[in-house]
Amino acid sequence: MMSKKIRVGLDFDGVVAYNPFRVVRAPVAMVKKKIFREKKLKFLIPANKWQRMIWSVVFGSSMLPAQGVELLREMATDPRWEFHLVTARFSFLQDDLAKWLNKNGLTDVFKTINLNKKDDQPHLFKEEIMKRLNVHYFVDDNLDIVEYLAKKKNAKIYWIYNFIDRSYPYEFKYPYLEKALRGIATNEDTF
Ligand SMILES: [Mg+2]
Repeated sequence: MMSKKIRVGLDFDGVVAYNPFRVVRAPVAMVKKKIFREKKLKFLIPANKWQRMIWSVVFGSSMLPAQGVELLREMATDPRWEFHLVTARFSFLQDDLAKWLNKNGLTDVFKTINLNKKDDQPHLFKEEIMKRLNVHYFVDDNLDIVEYLAKKKNAKIYWIYNFIDRSYPYEFKYPYLEKALRGIATNEDTF
């Protein structure tokens, strides 16, 4: 058996946790890209009370564990695997995250939990953490972030797609966490 540690970074929203509302983000991103031909990647940072309230509703109470958290717990007990949670969710949502992880028995699964404390742009935050942790794989559900990180070639970027953008061509795309983890495990077995 190999002694090499395989470090996997996981996004939270849309990867470890499933949010039934997340699908609404896809058309917005597409409209921005197709109609306004927006080139530079930039995410809205909720600045005022009302924006924060909306974000809390969308990203707060509605989170369910993704299909695959059981496999994640199982893999985390194998010393070959090391999991790191990397979430760019904004600081005002971070208390919810700790509670959610506890409630779902997922706190101990992760060697590190990396929060975007300074509310940096999500793609830049993830790029920085990925470099620091030197992960071999990173799993994210946001196509813009996936494409940005994939260009950096620091790690293999696995994408969790939703039904709206599932036809988008990408080499490592999966419908949910369990499939992505199995994809990673299979890839490692072929070394
Ligand atoms: Mg996400």
